[in-house]
Amino acid sequence: MRKKSHQLQWLEEMNQRGELTKEEANIYQRLKLGYKGEVNFDKLCSYFLDKPFPMIDDVTLSYQENILQMDKIIVNDHTITLIDIKNYHGQYTYVNNAWYAQQKLLPHNIYEQLRRAKRITKRLLDDFHINMKVEGVLIFINPQSEITIKDEVAETTLTYEKIPLWLMNLNENYRKCPANGWDTVIQNHTIPSYQTDYICSEKRLAQLKKGIHCQNCGSFDMIQGRYTINCASCGSNEPKDTAYTRTICKYGTIMHHYPLKNKAILQFFGDNYNKIYIRKILKKHFIPQKNIGKKNIQYTNKGCLFEYWFEDSLDYFQKIEQRKLWNNN
Ligand SMILES: [Zn+2]
Repeated sequence: MRKKSHQLQWLEEMNQRGELTKEEANIYQRLKLGYKGEVNFDKLCSYFLDKPFPMIDDVTLSYQENILQMDKIIVNDHTITLIDIKNYHGQYTYVNNAWYAQQKLLPHNIYEQLRRAKRITKRLLDDFHINMKVEGVLIFINPQSEITIKDEVAETTLTYEKIPLWLMNLNENYRKCPANGWDTVIQNHTIPSYQTDYICSEKRLAQLKKGIHCQNCGSFDMIQGRYTINCASCGSNEPKDTAYTRTICKYGTIMHHYPLKNKAILQFFGDNYNKIYIRKILKKHFIPQKNIGKKNIQYTNKGCLFEYWFEDSLDYFQKIEQRKLWNNN
């Protein structure tokens, strides 16, 4: 599953409950767009590729003090293709080794970033005596972009309309990749993706909106049923267990630098929610860290959203989602 970056998760939650600074809002828009572009490319891949290509999404590699991040890796035969996805819109021109956006020089050369990633990956594989070719593809996923490349470049550059043909070609030329250990080498040098260094202060936390919000429309106007939490604005509902757990994860994301403490979680829910039930859910789904008397129990904070935090127990939550329909009838 492609995950939102930790910084995007944090900004999304902060935006939902409070106000972002101007700088945060800019970064939020950029990350949101980037993520959307990557998801769109994944969709095209699953539509056009039906052969079992090994693929890795969002890889962060570390080798010899170099760190590189790739949006996607596709392996075919003896070739590893590193893919960088840009969701730019507007006019972009590449000339004299530099990128221009509406005639303004861009500070980063995105080809150079891709070349660097190719060099490091190739070096890593060579050092482990793994004979693979490494290629780079730059993808402009936004149909509303106008890309002009005046220089000769070795990297494949695909605008939106060229993606299907490229994928179909890949599909037609499918060959099983060698069992030479390339995947183990990549795996052994993969590091967890960056945690954001954004921190929410206690003061800012106190100003955020409290409680559960609707996962469909974002409204905080929720009606509490016996088994479900129901949105007063759009009418959608969610099992109580899931809604509470999801909200605890939201607190965890915002305050990723702290463990989960009963008191802080209760404050995050506000006065309208059942304190005994919140404690029960914490005990049920979260891992206690240490026990310093009954009052000071704290739980491990994974610092991420519900769908990632509980990716291994989504079965359980899917089951109660189905049961919800019975209870409502
Ligand atoms: Zn709603």
